[in-house]
Amino acid sequence: QVIFRDYVTGFLSESDLLINSTTVNLKVPAGSMTALVKNLYLSCDPYMRNRMRKPDPSSPATALSFVPGKPISGFGVSKVMDSGHPDYKEGDLLWGAVGWEEYSVITPIPNIHFKIHHTDVPLSHYTGLLGMPGMTAYAGFYEICSPKKGETVFVSAASGAVGQLVGQFAKLMGCYVVGSAGSKEKVDLLKNKFGFDDAFNYKEENDLNAALKRCFPVGIDIYFENVGGKMLDAVILNMRPHGRIAACGMISQYNLQVPEAVYNLWLITYKRIRIQGFNTIDYLPKYSEFLEFVLPYIRQGKITYVEDVADGLENAPAALVGLFHGKNVGKQLVVVSRD
Ligand code: NDP
Repeated sequence: QVIFRDYVTGFLSESDLLINSTTVNLKVPAGSMTALVKNLYLSCDPYMRNRMRKPDPSSPATALSFVPGKPISGFGVSKVMDSGHPDYKEGDLLWGAVGWEEYSVITPIPNIHFKIHHTDVPLSHYTGLLGMPGMTAYAGFYEICSPKKGETVFVSAASGAVGQLVGQFAKLMGCYVVGSAGSKEKVDLLKNKFGFDDAFNYKEENDLNAALKRCFPVGIDIYFENVGGKMLDAVILNMRPHGRIAACGMISQYNLQVPEAVYNLWLITYKRIRIQGFNTIDYLPKYSEFLEFVLPYIRQGKITYVEDVADGLENAPAALVGLFHGKNVGKQLVVVSRD
C-alpha cells in the first residue's frame, strides 16, 4: 500500500508517502455488495495533490482529503478476484476508484466504477485515454469550449494525459491548435505525433504574451486551461472577444501556499469572455457516449496516445511527485501487476 503520512503544505515530496505491507483477506462475504479486486494499473493525477490538503470547510478542494495513516486512492484498472456483488464476478475487469494498494475491497458505485468490455485496446488506456482524463478532454472540449470549425485553440500542459487528447479533438474539429509544454521532447511530440499546428516550450520563453502573439496573430478563441498562474494572465491578453476558457485545472497553483494573482482577469468583462470550471465527475454518466465516440477513432488510428509507465507500486510515490515537476511525458501511470 501507499500510505498518506500527513497533510501536505508546499511541494509534495516522496517522503509524504510511505510504502507499507499488510495482509489481505482474499475473500469477501457473499451478499456484501463488495468486491475484492487486484489492482493492475493506477492513474497518477494532479488533483490528488489537492486531496492532501488539510480539510477546510471554506475550500471545496479539500472535501475529499485523504486520511493520514491510510492508503491514498485514485482511479485504477482492476480485476475482480472475489465478489459479493451480483453484478460482478471473478475475472471481470473494471476501472474506477480504488486504493493505491495491490488489492482493494470496493463497493462498486454506478458512474464511479465501470466494467471494461473492450479489450482490443491496451488495458492501461483505461487510466487515461479511455478513463477519467479522456472523459475530461471530451467533456471539457466539446461541452465547455463550444468549439466551431476554424477557431483558434490553445492548450497548456498540452502533452499530458488530458492535453494531448484535447489537441487531437480540436484538430478533428478543424481548429487551429497550439500547445505549450515544458521541454523540447514534449514540444516535438505535440507537433510530430499529436498533430498540433504549432507548439512552444514555455520554460524557454521570457515573455509568454509575446510567445502567444507569435502563435496567434489574430488571437485565441478557446483556451483549454490546465496550468493557471502566469500562463492564464498572458492568455487573457490574447483572447479574442467572446472567447471561451475551460478551466480544467491549474496545476501551477496546487503546491503553493498562497495562490498567484491573475492580474488581467478584469479584461474578461471587456472581451466578453466566458470562463467556466468543470469537474469530470459530473460527466461520467456520459461515459458510454464517450466510448462510442472515441473507440472508432482509436481503431482507425486517428487518435493516438502516449503513456509514461512506472513499474511497481514502490515507484508510485516518485511517479506522482514527478507530475509537479513535468517529469512525465504523456499520461503517467503505475503498473502494479500485468495480470
Ligand atoms: P499531465 O499529464 O499534464 O501532468 C501534469 C503536467 O503539468 C506536467 O507534466 C507538467 O508538464 C505540467 N506542470 C506541472 N507543474 C507545472 C507548473 N508549475 N506550471 C506549468 N505546468 C506545470 O496532467 P493531466 O493531463 O492529468 O492534468 C492536466 C490538468 O487537468 C491539471 O490541472 C489537472 O488538475 C486537470 N484535471 C482536471 C480535471 C477536472 O475534472 N476538472 C480532471 C483531470 C485533470 P510540462 O512539462 O508541460 O510543464
